[in-house]
Parts: sequence; structure tokens; C-alpha cells
Amino acid sequence: MSLRSDYCGTLRAGDAGRRVSLCGWAARRREHGEHLAFVDLRDHTGIVQCVVDGAHDIRSEFVLRVTGTVQPRPEGTANPALPTGEVEVTDCAVEILSAAAPPPFPITDRTEADEVLRLQYRYLDLRRDRMQRNLRLRSRVNAALRSAMEEQGFVEVETPMLVASTPEGARDFIVPSRLHRGSFYALPQSPQLFKQLLMVGGTDRYYQVARCLRDEDLRGNRQFEFMQLDAEMAFADAEDVMASISAAVIGTARAVVAEPEAVPTVVPRMTWHDAMERYGTDKPDVRFGLELVELTDVFAGTEFKAFLAPCVKGLRLPGGGELSRSRLDALTDQAKGWGAKGLVWMRVGEGGLDSPVARFMSDDELKSLSSRLGAEPGDLLLLVADERPVVRHVLGLLRLELGRPPVSEGGLHFLWVTEFPLFEGLDEDGRPIPAHHPFTMPHPEDADGMESDPLSVRSLAYDMVVNGWELGSGSERIHRPEMQQRVFSLLGIGPEEAKARFGFLLEAFRYGAPPHAGFAFGVDRLVAVLAGEESIREVIAFPKTQSGTDPLTGAPTPADGRLLAELGVRVVPPDS
Ligand code: ASP
Repeated sequence: MSLRSDYCGTLRAGDAGRRVSLCGWAARRREHGEHLAFVDLRDHTGIVQCVVDGAHDIRSEFVLRVTGTVQPRPEGTANPALPTGEVEVTDCAVEILSAAAPPPFPITDRTEADEVLRLQYRYLDLRRDRMQRNLRLRSRVNAALRSAMEEQGFVEVETPMLVASTPEGARDFIVPSRLHRGSFYALPQSPQLFKQLLMVGGTDRYYQVARCLRDEDLRGNRQFEFMQLDAEMAFADAEDVMASISAAVIGTARAVVAEPEAVPTVVPRMTWHDAMERYGTDKPDVRFGLELVELTDVFAGTEFKAFLAPCVKGLRLPGGGELSRSRLDALTDQAKGWGAKGLVWMRVGEGGLDSPVARFMSDDELKSLSSRLGAEPGDLLLLVADERPVVRHVLGLLRLELGRPPVSEGGLHFLWVTEFPLFEGLDEDGRPIPAHHPFTMPHPEDADGMESDPLSVRSLAYDMVVNGWELGSGSERIHRPEMQQRVFSLLGIGPEEAKARFGFLLEAFRYGAPPHAGFAFGVDRLVAVLAGEESIREVIAFPKTQSGTDPLTGAPTPADGRLLAELGVRVVPPDS
């Protein structure tokens, strides 16, 4: 006989009179007269109240099997806040399946417990309704993504975990080889090279829900290991990839959110250049305005020395004139912390602009900046003058500081950011640093200038952004060896090094590579946004802390001496 007939959270008034067997954890117990106690029994579906006789042995988190009769609660005692609040289970026989030590923090939906403690006792943390909801949502997202990809003819292929290094720009985790002493496998930063090989191998449309590992600083919303929906298409270009990925992401979001109609069916596009100029970032949060407005030309011949800069931009905060002087000082300090030399603020009054620096500006300048920004009485204007990248960066961060809603608010705003630069800057030797990975195709309109002016070359790379989070990136790939060689030369990767690092890919391309393009996006991030969680750790069953440790298992731990000896690995103590 099975242990249970029903789940706790599913019982309703219509079940009255039924004899049921329930299993779960004692969530709460309240005395009710001399012998009776109310025991709230919890499983992953919710809680139901059981009226238990002689409940003295039962304590919090004991594992119980309760057999009893569902009854309407007595007149006036229904709890409308609880889905099972109209009923209770009476006449109960209780079996204690396991006793439980007192939990280190209460298992309630809202917990004040410190994150390290929650991770140390993750199995208790996971009993909370919110965590169960998140895990179940994640499972549905994975299923929906898979079926969206399968429907479009993509084939799931598993690529290996023990690989040679992948050039995604992060540090590798490496695994020493026992059989090949002194040699190491890398754990995959992504399946990038394998998926390109799959295209040469005729797979046509590949996808994988792939685990990727990158040994980088865990600032913000990052984990060493994360899941990507990874995809690649042959005989396809950026348009084909964006269409397929949009369909998968939108389809998945619609399959799991409470109001599918509210999810936009089309993913709008913005070039990287526009994103940087209007939002100061390559992952714009377009849920709110406060766009950056160009003012450089307004101050072209200004007497105000601080504004004789390569770039001047501003933003308007409607109604922001009410911000206190101390808040404005704090914003100025923040702007300086982000790299600005200063922040100019102006309160818009009925009679003009109130600002410590207004008197240094001409009437024409004040008039033009007001009209450019659309200033209305009561507004606050914030202006920064500096090198263009600094202005964009600082105003972009101020915009978020002043306007960004929590990730769960304002609906889902997906966006494609296109035409990323091919290179993101120069290294100490003056060599360009790839913005994506070195297999990204240069924009055909710019490729001629690749050697003479590399930083102005756009690429055929695109990112998907949602509510200000980078969800993932992809690109059209280089499939001709000559072009790949040009990019490698620019990056300072000579033929020998290219052969040593990616020889197998270059070799493969000699045997007929189809034009191909692909994309990968972070499943953890997608699930977090869909769950309305700010942190991806809330949607990962067993995440690491910000310092990369696992308080539950104690990882990382020193390795066994014998194992190290077999591997031929000697550990150098940290302080030597
Ligand atoms: N491999 C890339 C990444 O992990 C994505 C791609 O270009 O397909 O970011």
C-alpha cells in the first residue's frame, strides 16, 4: 500500500468526508486544549491543518504520516490566506516516520537567515515554498526550452567535460591527468569548439543544455559553473539564429509565466552603438526611460572649462527636483567613485535652472540644454562631461541607480543588442582584445579596416538582454581559414600557437566548413528573471557562496596525499 493518498496542499472543501493519508513535515504545532493540538503538515504542495490527539511527541520538522478525515473547519475558523484554509483533517492516526533535530532556522517562506547558513543547510532551505517553486519552475523552463529547440529541428548533442582549453576569455578549471602525467584537461568554458566541429560534421542544427565552468571572480550574479542553452546552426546567419532563439525564449517564457499574453511576441533590436549612447551600457534596461541625451555640441564653444570635454551628456529625472542636497552630494560621490571628475546637477524651477554652475554657462547653453532634455519645472537634470566612455559609463550607472525597478516588476523586456565591436580594447602590447571569442565574424562593411583601425570594426555578434541583464551572446562565425588567419594575426596568435591551441578546428575547416552561426544563453539567469529573483543563487539547488565555497559539503577541500602522488602533483603552500 502506498504511504499516501493525497498531497497536503491539494485538499479543498470538496474533499470533505474523505479519509486520506498524508505524508510530510510538521511545519507548526499549536496546542488546542489539554490533549489536542493543531499540527500543520507540509509537503511541496503546501500545508494542511491536522487536528491531532495526544501530539506531545511531535516537534517541528518531524516526518509524519497522518491518516484522517477531511472536514470543513468549524464556522468562523476558515483561513482565507491558505489554499487549504476551509478544511482540516480530523480523527487522525499519526505515525512518526522520522524524528528531527530543531532546525537552525525556521522553515518559513520569508527567512532572515544568513545566506551561508541557508547554504550550509540547503536541504532545509529547499523545503521552503519559495525554493520549491523555483526548482519546479526551473524544471519546466528546461523542458520548455528543449521542446522549443526540438520543434525547430535542433538536435541535442552532449559534448565532453574533459577537454582542451576553450577560448572564452576566462580562466580554466583544470584536471590533472593520471595516465598522462604533467598533462591536464580543462573543464569546458563552453562547448564552442565542439559545436563548430558539429557543423563541419553535418549536424546542421545543434543544441545542448550545457554545463559550463569558468574560474573567474564571483562578483554579482555569477557562479563558477552555470547552465547554458547552447546552439549552433549551419548554412545560417545572424538573422536565422536570432529568430530561432527568440522563438525558444519567448515560447518558454509564455509556457511558464502566469500571464502569457503579457510576454511580447517580438524581441526588438538595438545596435550596440545606440545602446551605449542612449543607455550607457551594452545591456540596457529598457523598462524605464531616463535616457542619456547628447549635449556635446551644445557646449562646443563654452566658457565653462569643465564642459570643454570630448563628450557631454545629460539625463532628466522627472520630479527629481525634490531630491535633497545630501542625496545630490551622495550621487556626486557615487559618480566620482565610478570615474567621473564631477557631476553637475540642476533643479528645474519655474523661472529657470537652479545649479551651482548655472552662472558659468551662457543663456543660450542653458536654453539649449533644457530643451534638448525636455526639462519641466520640478525636474532634476544631471550632466557629466569627460571622455565618451566615462560619460556613458557614469550616466548609465546613475540612470540605474535612480530608476531601476526590481527585476520582477514591469514585465519581461527582451532585447537583441547587435553589431558589437569586434575588439573591446588594446592590451599592454597594443594588440586588440577580442570582445567575444576569436571565431567571431567581422562585419563585412568594416573588415577592410581591420588592420588599420581595429577598434572601429564591428562584428556580427549579438547579445540578448532581458530587464537589464545580459542573457547570452552569439555570433556569425568565421568559416574561411584566410579570415581566421587574419584575426589570429591581429590578436598576436602566430601560426604555431594557432596550430597548438586550435589546430584541430583549423584542420577541420580545411575539409569543408559550412557558413554557421550560434548563440548561448544562461539558463540560470533566465529562470531567475522568470522567478522574479535578483540572485541566480535562488534558482540553483546547490550554489556556491560569493567566495566560491560550498558550506554544505565543505568544497573545496585539500586532496588526498596518495591521489596527488599518483597524479604527480605537489602542492605549494599558499604563503611560500
Ligand atoms: N560560446 C559563447 C559563450 O559561451 C556563445 C556563442 O558564441 O555561441 O559565450
